[in-house]
Amino acid sequence: MKFTDIKIGDLKGIGPKKEALYNKLGIYTAEDLIRNYPRAYQDMREPKKISDLKDGEETLIKGKIVLFTEPPTRTRKKMTRILVDDGTKNIEIIFFNQPYLKKTVHVRRKYYFYGKVSIKDGRTQMVQPEIINAQDFRKEILPLYTTIKGISQKEIRKHIRELLDDDIEDFLPLDLVKNRNICPIDYELRNLHFPLDREHLKVARYRQIYEELFIMQLGLQMMRTEQNSGIVMNGDCNLFIDSFEFELTEPQKRSVNEILDDMASGQCMNRLLQGDVGSGKTAVASIAMYKAAINGYQAAFMAPTEILAKQHYESLKNHFEKFDIKVGLLTGSMKTSEKKKALEAILDGEYQIVIGTHALIQERVEFNNLGLVITDEQHRFGVNQRFVLSNKGIKPHVLVMTATPIPRTLAVILYGDLEMSVIDKLPQGRKEIKTVAVGPKQRSDMYENILSEVKNGSQVYVVAPLIEDSENLENVKSVASLKDELEKLYMPYGVSVAVVHGAMKQNEKDEIMARFYSGEIDILVATVVIEVGINVPNATVMVIENTERFGLAQLHQLRGRVGRGEKQSYCYLVNNSKGDVAKKRLKIMCESTDGFYISEEDLKLRGPGEVFGTRQHGIPDISLINAVKHYDILEKAREDAILYKDLKNDYLDYKICNMYGENLNMQL
Ligand code: ADP
Ligand code: MG
Repeated sequence: MKFTDIKIGDLKGIGPKKEALYNKLGIYTAEDLIRNYPRAYQDMREPKKISDLKDGEETLIKGKIVLFTEPPTRTRKKMTRILVDDGTKNIEIIFFNQPYLKKTVHVRRKYYFYGKVSIKDGRTQMVQPEIINAQDFRKEILPLYTTIKGISQKEIRKHIRELLDDDIEDFLPLDLVKNRNICPIDYELRNLHFPLDREHLKVARYRQIYEELFIMQLGLQMMRTEQNSGIVMNGDCNLFIDSFEFELTEPQKRSVNEILDDMASGQCMNRLLQGDVGSGKTAVASIAMYKAAINGYQAAFMAPTEILAKQHYESLKNHFEKFDIKVGLLTGSMKTSEKKKALEAILDGEYQIVIGTHALIQERVEFNNLGLVITDEQHRFGVNQRFVLSNKGIKPHVLVMTATPIPRTLAVILYGDLEMSVIDKLPQGRKEIKTVAVGPKQRSDMYENILSEVKNGSQVYVVAPLIEDSENLENVKSVASLKDELEKLYMPYGVSVAVVHGAMKQNEKDEIMARFYSGEIDILVATVVIEVGINVPNATVMVIENTERFGLAQLHQLRGRVGRGEKQSYCYLVNNSKGDVAKKRLKIMCESTDGFYISEEDLKLRGPGEVFGTRQHGIPDISLINAVKHYDILEKAREDAILYKDLKNDYLDYKICNMYGENLNMQL
């Protein structure tokens, strides 16, 4: 029997009651139990001298009982007080409500005690320690598991010990274990639970991390090999490329070539296009869509927000019209009748290019012959959603784009299944955005500068964390209060101020955005809804309030909303925190406009869990943290996953399915 097939309730000594408790701990099978690692260890190898004990430490001592009393207490609790001597000093040991000790514990005999030490006024004490007879004592390191009421440490230890007695088959090939100098699986499990010593534990932990990363990488490899053969798309795109009013930058050209080569190769494209804000990813994407269209296939372009989807739709529609290619839109907020029409046009192939939000991945959407799937701002979508969309075609080519510059290290982890193109240079003529840190004293200067920009015909974004003021968050600015403040301040100058935020109705948002595009609104006060993709070249000032509440990559994204036109642009970072980290963050932002650098620094300051929330990529946080922390192991695991990509056994299937869930089922 394999551990994965054994229900926890089938184990010796585990009835329905205990089974339910184990289930509560997330343990359903013997496999779950054996992989339920200790949260800490209890070192039971050498007792400490009582004279050496320190206040607060948890440790083992050994000594002779010299006094046993049951002093009266003021409450109904029964108290037992034992005095223990080990030749160096006395310790007072207190138990509550354990009247049977009188019968089982004997004066002048030696015992071991494990517990927490407290030293007060020169008196050394242990309350409610574990007590062990000298003849029952074993020198060992014991595991401490997460427990709940009804299951004790002792029981979990016993159940795990029993599993460890079984022969455990290694799911890693022998030569891999040998070549990589990894310990065998029985060594690993034994030492993770009952380590012989620190060295053994280290060796076991190494394998544990390797296993996890190997499985993660193998899963990504499997998803990739599954979709190997793809539609061959040929034809010349130069006519389209020449129709841009600008010349492509070198990295854009390189990316276009890589993408077009993929699409002609007969293999499925699976590519990540990374490029900083404003680097021109959309132009590159539109060339790929053109290629699909002239080959008679549909292309789908998925944007993370309605505002963005509409913006892309407007600009792409006009461009593709010149080439007689029909572009359609599908978003969640469309009227039922509009949606119905769009769905029909998608199904019968009238729309050759479909721009949309995640409405595109809903089940009702059927394509005529989907040949290319593009997701914009990939970090907003989980691995999950990417696969849903690509499952709507036969074997469509897949291009994912992101402006959250992902450090190489993390890209390998998150997108290990993708090839990568990078646009690492902005189009020429872009002026560097001047970034200034603003404290309370500089606020009035900032407001003056804003006014002079507006007088010059430029437009301004002001971003705040909250929609309305909150009593609990006193020093956090809100969109509502900022609008009032700015309107009062600029009233005499006829400046128009408007508000946009996520809680507004879609049509209200659209209306405001349209008025901002047209230049009717001078200052747009917003929440982070404007974070991604919005393109108003006439906007030259970005003010971000309470910068301490945003990640660096996010600040960089927001800053990227300006500096899109000919004019000099400015970014004001209003900070409300005096800490060192806050200072460091501002310094990074003021000194660098390199998104990759900023994102690396963000990762160092906040860690991957914060920078990329778990939901967004579909890989468990802990695996991600391990991957960043143990990059050396990750690289080996990745190499091996490629080498052993055809490796298959029940255990691996089980683990990979657990890690990737539905994504994988859909692919297999
Ligand atoms: P992002 O990578 O942020 O999606 P966009 O594709 O929105 O960037 O491009 C930003 C702006 O730069 C757009 O107005 C686009 O027309 C323009 N652009 C793109 N490529 C070039 C280029 N090679 N030269 C000049 N302008 C360009
Ligand atoms: Mg974009």
